[in-house]
Parts: sequence; C-alpha cells; structure tokens
Amino acid sequence: MHELSIAEALVAAVRRELGALSPAAVRRVRVQVGALRLIEPTALRFCYAGAARENGLTESELILEPVAGRAVCRQCGVEFAIEEAVFLCPRCDSADAQILAGNELNLVGIECVADDAPAVGHSVAPVTASSR
Ligand SMILES: [Zn+2]
Repeated sequence: MHELSIAEALVAAVRRELGALSPAAVRRVRVQVGALRLIEPTALRFCYAGAARENGLTESELILEPVAGRAVCRQCGVEFAIEEAVFLCPRCDSADAQILAGNELNLVGIECVADDAPAVGHSVAPVTASSR
C-alpha cells in the first residue's frame, strides 16, 4: 500500500530528526503533501498511527498541509492549476509544461513537549520522504 510506505518513511524521518529526544515527546508532525501525490489523507493518517505506535511516537498527531498542483507552460508561459500528473496547457494545448508545485512530500515541522516544559516548536529543514 502506497500510504503505508509513506507513513513508515515519515516516522523514520521524524526519528532521525529527534536525535536524543524521546519519541514519546512528539505531539505534532507537520507534513506538506502535494496534490499530485494522490495520497488519501484518511489512509495516510491510519497508516501513520500504526507506524507511530510501533516506533514509540504514541502521542503524535499527523498534520497534513495540502499543496495544490501548479504548472507553467513552456510554450506560452501561462501558469495554471493542475490536478493530475498528465495535463495540457489550457491556453495553447501544449503538453510541454513544467510542474511548479504539487509533488511535495515534506516533513516541515515537529512539535515536542518535555515533561516539565511547555510545547516547543521544532522546525526542521524539509525532508523528502520517498513513496517508493
Ligand atoms: Zn501554453
């Protein structure tokens, strides 16, 4: 299942970012998901919950931030919204367009809480989780 391998890659990326911090301290994991990834959010949350439990991230919640698909036509320069990986320019019908956004699968933030401290935001550099 597509979403299961993504969930496992995300959990592995979170654990790498945590270093010496306990995985049980993780409260929120924010992930940008591009529309072209065709990820089913409900399935991804379900798979993430299982993978998180197995890896000690028992209290963590997955926050998905959708990113709309966009492309720019190389022939006429128009920018347009896309919903699928196969598309034509709406102005000139060219298939020669460059995808600007929509392929994201980035871990963009981890929020942790320590036993005696309020929640702190932990910003991470975007980590790309492979879906294969
Ligand atoms: Zn065009």
